[in-house]
Amino acid sequence: MPPMKDFNALDVSADLMKALVRMGISVPTQIQQETIPPMMAGRDIIGIAPTGTGKTIAFGIPMLEYISLTETRVQELVIAPTRELALQIEQELTDLGHFIPQIRIAALYGGQPMAKQINQLKRRPQIVVATPGRLLDMVNRGHVHLDHVHTMVIDEADEMLKMGFVKDVTRIIELVPANRQLVMFSATTNSDVMTISWKYQQEPVEITVEATKENRPQITQYTMVVGREEKMAALQYLLDSDEYDRVMVFVNTKFMTQRVCDRLKKQGYQADALHGDIRQSQRTRIMNDFKRGKFPVLIATDVAARGIDVDDVEAVINYDLPNENEYYLHRIGRTGRARKHGVSFTMLTFQETVRMDEILKYMQTKPTPLHFDEAKILCRADGEAFFTAV
Ligand code: ADP
Ligand code: MG
Repeated sequence: MPPMKDFNALDVSADLMKALVRMGISVPTQIQQETIPPMMAGRDIIGIAPTGTGKTIAFGIPMLEYISLTETRVQELVIAPTRELALQIEQELTDLGHFIPQIRIAALYGGQPMAKQINQLKRRPQIVVATPGRLLDMVNRGHVHLDHVHTMVIDEADEMLKMGFVKDVTRIIELVPANRQLVMFSATTNSDVMTISWKYQQEPVEITVEATKENRPQITQYTMVVGREEKMAALQYLLDSDEYDRVMVFVNTKFMTQRVCDRLKKQGYQADALHGDIRQSQRTRIMNDFKRGKFPVLIATDVAARGIDVDDVEAVINYDLPNENEYYLHRIGRTGRARKHGVSFTMLTFQETVRMDEILKYMQTKPTPLHFDEAKILCRADGEAFFTAV
């Protein structure tokens, strides 16, 4: 690993330095140290780094450094797989640009009336953050032009391509000028990501950040084998420990997400749910309330929660084992972000233990198994109670 540099040494300008201080950020992460110089030099980049390593700021700083404030056409474009992620990137870029009031950013994503976003476009943003479908819709209707984009960032490329956006993403790349800078970030590599890179990037700088101890979010993982009908009680047991002020619970289906939420509320817990059947305006409100700590328990499906970055999620509870193996890391990555410490609990039915082993096959750290004893106390393997206060 190259020697530690601070943001000053990375040639970050004074306004952005002030914004970083305001955001409480002082030491660049490895991906930031390795991305900022070549991206500022205009190189194409393919960056592979685990979640929670600070990729948004890694591309956000060079983006903001290279904006022409007098140019009234879209110069920089970020595409992201989900609206939540697009909003989050918009927020982080807005925070970074706090001391550059002339910067205008538009976020374009589905599920919100076009009119509102068209108004944002009328303000002549220099930056657009978008999901692929809505962006193409806006382009086709002539509300946005991409022919002056000099920097394009594809965030969470693996997720995006897995979600079936290959065609949309290639269309968008082909709509921006051929000599643009193309920067791709991904948590993993897959053949679609590599194909896009080969096809569209010129001598890209490859940056890989391994999931080493320092980079990897600090997450202590636990598993607990419970019967299907015992899951609700187990969930309440974890919440009743009063150890965690902010908890995300992952459930596989929209239906069960709502049901778990309703049952918790009925029992007097402050909880809310995020899933695809909830209106976008409400989803945004729920997300923000959860971020601000207005309620402690958020129950979500994988799609609704993808890419969401909430600081201080103290515990992630997998009510179900995810349908896709790689979602496991995405889920537990909601906690332990940016060098904080987090915990995850995964409930497993006996049959699911086999699949859990499969998920863990490529992970360096293994969860600690917990179980409920005869008195229904959650215990470690040696029989010692897990929550000492309970
Ligand atoms: P990724 O996209 O790699 O999953 P994010 O860009 O969402 O990660 O960053 C995760 C969290 O870490 C965010 O809350 C962000 O503000 C914070 N963060 C980013 N860079 C730093 C840093 N250098 N020091 C401390 N926190 C950081
Ligand atoms: Mg990210």
